[in-house]
Amino acid sequence: MSDSKKTRSPETILTHAGRDPAGHHGAVNIPPYRTSTVLFETLEQVKSINNPDYTGYRYGRMGNPSSRAFEDAVAELEGADGAVSHCSGMAAIAMALDACTKQGDHILICDSTYSPTRKYCDNVLARYGVDVEYYDPMIGAGIDKLLRDNTSLVYLEAPGSLTFEVQDVPAIAAAAKKRDIAVLMDNTWATPLFFRPFDHGVDISIHAATKYMVGHADAMLGVCTARGNYVEKLRKTAWLSGHAAGPDALYLGLRGLRSMAVRLKQHEAQAMELAEWLKDRPEVVKVLHPAFEDCPGHEYFKRDFKGASGLFSITLKPGYDEAALARMLDGMNLFGMGFSWGGFESLIMPDRPDQTRSATIWNDEGMLLRIHAGLENISDLKEDLDQGFQRLSGT
Ligand SMILES: *Cc1c(COP(=O)(O)O)cnc(C)c1O
Repeated sequence: MSDSKKTRSPETILTHAGRDPAGHHGAVNIPPYRTSTVLFETLEQVKSINNPDYTGYRYGRMGNPSSRAFEDAVAELEGADGAVSHCSGMAAIAMALDACTKQGDHILICDSTYSPTRKYCDNVLARYGVDVEYYDPMIGAGIDKLLRDNTSLVYLEAPGSLTFEVQDVPAIAAAAKKRDIAVLMDNTWATPLFFRPFDHGVDISIHAATKYMVGHADAMLGVCTARGNYVEKLRKTAWLSGHAAGPDALYLGLRGLRSMAVRLKQHEAQAMELAEWLKDRPEVVKVLHPAFEDCPGHEYFKRDFKGASGLFSITLKPGYDEAALARMLDGMNLFGMGFSWGGFESLIMPDRPDQTRSATIWNDEGMLLRIHAGLENISDLKEDLDQGFQRLSGT
């Protein structure tokens, strides 16, 4: 990467990174490369693929022009030395954890993490003799007391999935750094546009590109970015485990990046307006949104983040039963019920954070609803929610 490229602004990176018209008959976009076998012309070439400075392609699982274009774009956007793409966000998480863990290690995972991450740690890593400990996401510099001689990594996610606490990333990273412990962070919510992990001490940043990068709910894709030696560690783990992304998902990921800055601004504005409106609803107890003052870690959000994306939660007043909730959610017109988020469309999903915590206690009795603000007309979205609340209250 040349110095002039390093200083490109995010919108310009999103528009130009990973493109090579001269290498593709003038086409603006790099077509999806459907590659398994890569042919070599000479025996000399075959032998050269083991040279450490070899930059060509080897075999489909180890990358092709589609994966390299997407990885180059995300790495440049996030200010990383390199990126490694995967077939899903969850594969990217598993690979990052695997790359930094061995038998007998102790690892620290934030209690507010995406729940499949927790399941991977408890059901896979623990099976291989890794000691998994969960910590209060608001622990800050206090993480120091939990670090042991055999701690190999600290895993962060800010804001937390479902509950949106914002972690003091630099304080946690500084404590880990003092002991040479790897700092991993799931940066899916903010994207590289709204949080710059490497400016705050993170070693490996992980994205479910399925969400805002792809942005249209039509592909599964994951990517890790890193600086220094971590890039090679990630690449080796990925090549050996075979979680390579397919060409269509990579193509859609790169295409999604082109419009990500404008989409995110609109998701942010839509979510803010919905959240403000929901705060005053009689059915709602709390809005869990990092930009709100009462959100745990709001001060770190203001200090470290450049914006908020379109995902947040609300908690309902206790007392609505399952049937009332079904009346509300089954009848929604615009808000879909489904896992994932980050596409153009609005979503609403009920959840129970108390069932996926062990280091902290989630006390709120009311049901939690996680909302993704899509790109529909904002009045239409409010009307859909308003009618939903009327069904909830049985009026
Ligand atoms: C969805 C999600 C993932 C997993 O991504 P997939 O592509 O669905 O495997 C990881 N982290 C967060 C925060 C997510 O929301």
